[in-house]
Amino acid sequence: MAEDVARDAARAYPHPSSAGRSANMRANRRTDTKPELALRKALHGLGYRYRKDYRLDLAGGVRVRPDIVFTARKVAVFVDGCFWHCCPDHGSQPAANTWYWEPKLRRNVDRDRAADDALGQAGWTVVRFWEHESIDVAVARVVDVLAERAGRPAPPDGRAGSRP
Ligand SMILES: [Zn+2]
Repeated sequence: MAEDVARDAARAYPHPSSAGRSANMRANRRTDTKPELALRKALHGLGYRYRKDYRLDLAGGVRVRPDIVFTARKVAVFVDGCFWHCCPDHGSQPAANTWYWEPKLRRNVDRDRAADDALGQAGWTVVRFWEHESIDVAVARVVDVLAERAGRPAPPDGRAGSRP
């Protein structure tokens, strides 16, 4: 049966290339992948407090678990893996097993856009980074967005008050 074939294929988990293999390894550590961790750590160091692994149940049955959530200011931050979320620079489709990878990766991207829409409709600001982006750039963008949402430029507890 087709279903059995699909299940077996999923179990076999074909490796498309060395890039795919390392992406698999990254995926096995779904939470706390390195760029995510570095971003959290940097924001925490600036005095920001956030939730991680915080599930948001949105309209239309859309469930989203952003990497970093600022509940009061309704800011949701995602750090997207280049392979899994089809980064334009590093997200090339595996040449082997396209029957497996193509729909899988397309579903990921579709899910991302659906999450963005549902979050936007619920009044959330979505901030997405690629895992290849520099942490400094990511931190600066999150700080900007938070300041915008809070209507004030300074970090929340003034610990980083010496920043311009
Ligand atoms: Zn990338």
